Amino acid sequence: MIKTAEDVWASCLRFIKDNITPVGYKTWFEPIVPVKLEGGALTIQVPSKFFFEFLEENYVKIMRSALVRELGKDARLLYDVRLENSYSSKVPQTVKIPSSNRAPMKAQNVTFPAKNISREVKNPFIIPGLQKVKVESNLNPNYCFENFMEGESNRLGRSAGMAVANKPGGTSFNPLMIYGGVGLGKTHLAHAIGVQVKDKYPDKTVLYVSTEKFIQQYGDAVLKNNNRNDFLHFYQMIDVLIVDDIQFLSGKTKTQDAFFQIFNELHQNGKQVILTSDKAPVDMQDIEQRLLSRFKWGLSAELQAPDYETRIHILKNRLYRDGVEVPDDVIEFIAKHIKTNVRELEGVVTSLIAQSAFNKKEFSLSLAKTIVDKFVKNTKKEVSVDYIQKVVSKYFEIDLATLQSKTRKRHIVQARQLAMYFSKKLTKSSLASIGAQIGKRDHATVLHACKTVDNLAATDKNFKTYVEEISKKLSF
Ligand code: ADP
Ligand code: MG
Repeated sequence: MIKTAEDVWASCLRFIKDNITPVGYKTWFEPIVPVKLEGGALTIQVPSKFFFEFLEENYVKIMRSALVRELGKDARLLYDVRLENSYSSKVPQTVKIPSSNRAPMKAQNVTFPAKNISREVKNPFIIPGLQKVKVESNLNPNYCFENFMEGESNRLGRSAGMAVANKPGGTSFNPLMIYGGVGLGKTHLAHAIGVQVKDKYPDKTVLYVSTEKFIQQYGDAVLKNNNRNDFLHFYQMIDVLIVDDIQFLSGKTKTQDAFFQIFNELHQNGKQVILTSDKAPVDMQDIEQRLLSRFKWGLSAELQAPDYETRIHILKNRLYRDGVEVPDDVIEFIAKHIKTNVRELEGVVTSLIAQSAFNKKEFSLSLAKTIVDKFVKNTKKEVSVDYIQKVVSKYFEIDLATLQSKTRKRHIVQARQLAMYFSKKLTKSSLASIGAQIGKRDHATVLHACKTVDNLAATDKNFKTYVEEISKKLSF
């Protein structure tokens, strides 16, 4: 008997219905219409983009299982998504989007070298009590190389990342340190390397961990369970270790020690380490020298803000993946005005899609303008103390360490006071926190600095110029 799309979908529904809540079923599955069955691919029509995303995010597993039961393991799911707002037509259009064809990352079974351990190693990622040690890679399969657009701004990092992924531990890029400002793709690129390693070398154990999580796990291991050794052993048997936002190790000496031991063991054994940071190793603070010097062993690759061409490229790819059609002039407008980072670029796209969906508006230039305006305004408020210090040091042509040092040389004191003054004015940080970040001063010093700057700006013409010029540099 030849199966039709309706038959297959009806059987899937029976299976799904048994496995999810009645409300979920009613809301998300009843409105779906089966459209076509062709060569093991079932196409279903869903009422909106939002619907599609919700299904993919929440029900993709159960749908996959249902479909595999019906059509075998090569089954594929395709969506027809009704587009309510296509700028080119008033009639609802549909767009075809494949179900995320990347399977969720599988857990990895790991055998422990018996010599190291007397009892079972605890995996800090799982609740104690579970028997088998499975290591979830924590990788996001959507953060892959295919989705990471290449440009001048990321070429070095991207190609080094590729090289590492193709030969983990076997290049001189060990560790590979990816650094750069917020939203420029560090996390994405780090994941992409891991995802590609898993594609090429399924047997390698890859682990992604944020530094915050690492610190927390270390704390738990030591304080609560007193099993520092288990913690170290766990990390030392990873083949490709990715640690994100390593700058957060700053000031955490105990955790740095642990990381140092893990790093050495991995490096000696030809395992790959990938690190990301918001600063270049030379600018990292409160990180032990021996660790910093390790960071410099391999390659440090900076991610910079993408240029115009790359921004266009990223926008188009994003919209394509979202199944949304937007006129070129709107894309160009966004790319021209949102320059600082990719996260913002994506934020604008998300807003644009949401706004036009909710208000039934077209993707027009004027809508884009309103949204971009809002973003540009919001970014102005987001100047950080770090950024201010950088701008001020650069302005006076001194380095950051000097700005923060204890020196009482007049021009450096002034630079430091200006950094404090602008931090108070432009960020939401408290006096105490500003002081702590600018060379570990107390809040009284910052307060004094603010008063001094006010006074000098009113009485000293040169100084007034400093204030004005720095002010300009700080306002994007
Ligand atoms: P960071 O870790 O540097 O703060 P992320 O890796 O979180 O930045 O990137 C922010 C967003 O921008 C993510 O959604 C990421 O997918 C996207 N992104 C960054 N760089 C690129 C790129 N070159 N191509 C496509 N998307 C990118
Ligand atoms: Mg990140």
